[in-house]
Amino acid sequence: MIAIGVDIGGTSIKGAAITDKGEILDRFSLKMDRSASPEISFGAMCDEINEFLKNKPYKNEIIGVGLGVPGILNRELGIVKSSPNMPKWINFKISDFVQKNLNLPVKIVNDASSAALGEAKFGTGKNYKNIVMITLGTGVGGGIIIDGKLYDGLGGTGAQLGHSVIRLNGRQCSCGRRGCLEAYASATALIKQAYIKKEKYPDSELNKVENIDAKCVFDLARADDKLAKKLVKKYVTYLSEGLLNICNEFRPDLILLSGGVANEGYYLIKKIESYMKRHNYGYLNAPKVPIKLASLGYDSGKIGAATLFFD
Ligand SMILES: [Zn+2]
Repeated sequence: MIAIGVDIGGTSIKGAAITDKGEILDRFSLKMDRSASPEISFGAMCDEINEFLKNKPYKNEIIGVGLGVPGILNRELGIVKSSPNMPKWINFKISDFVQKNLNLPVKIVNDASSAALGEAKFGTGKNYKNIVMITLGTGVGGGIIIDGKLYDGLGGTGAQLGHSVIRLNGRQCSCGRRGCLEAYASATALIKQAYIKKEKYPDSELNKVENIDAKCVFDLARADDKLAKKLVKKYVTYLSEGLLNICNEFRPDLILLSGGVANEGYYLIKKIESYMKRHNYGYLNAPKVPIKLASLGYDSGKIGAATLFFD
């Protein structure tokens, strides 16, 4: 079986033809204008997919198109109700629109959920039943797999694990509340703290960096920069508190980390595990939830979206 899986992001739309073994056959991508109307954006996407499929030998074997969509969805009706970064996406019937243009069945899923689904079926999570995946990027996203199946949430809105409050009256979050995990554990939050704190640390190498990103904060922490080490320590503390909440709420078989900050790999995991070990419910007697890195990288969302047609 072959399906098209598409990952729709704020700057680009990336898709691929994917087999039911999780193999990527061919890829396509196009730029995304977040201020454009959904008709224009998804019209361009459909043109791209039609062009992409034109000479493919498996063209007639495609069983459907799965879309990982950022925003609040009604999955059953195939509607994107709103999307925080796409102001013109209001109650748009995305499934109907794409179906008409491509003449193929269409299914939609929240983008964080589709990434979790991809990892659960074909990535690090493939031998686990209950998984929570946390994406540490511009924001903090989350997807939950229970008994091998995606937990959809009411109306298919998915889970908003990044917006659980870890500090009452804490930092302002993009969602309107204060103190959300996202305001502490996203790459954006780490970068923001670096800019706020660096003036107090004139010796820090961070003062010489023109565009600070999460990677450079971690690199400097590894190189023993005092401020960078402090920032990472605080970042890990908050992130670990968020992950401990998830452990206590779900006690999953596995927590997966993905997104830009997860590229810090074992250096990050080791610090998280050390913190969590000390604060685990039941301390040493309770089972410790393994924390692992997602393995499909930027392909997890596409693969997860295609997977909607393989169950
Ligand atoms: Zn929030």
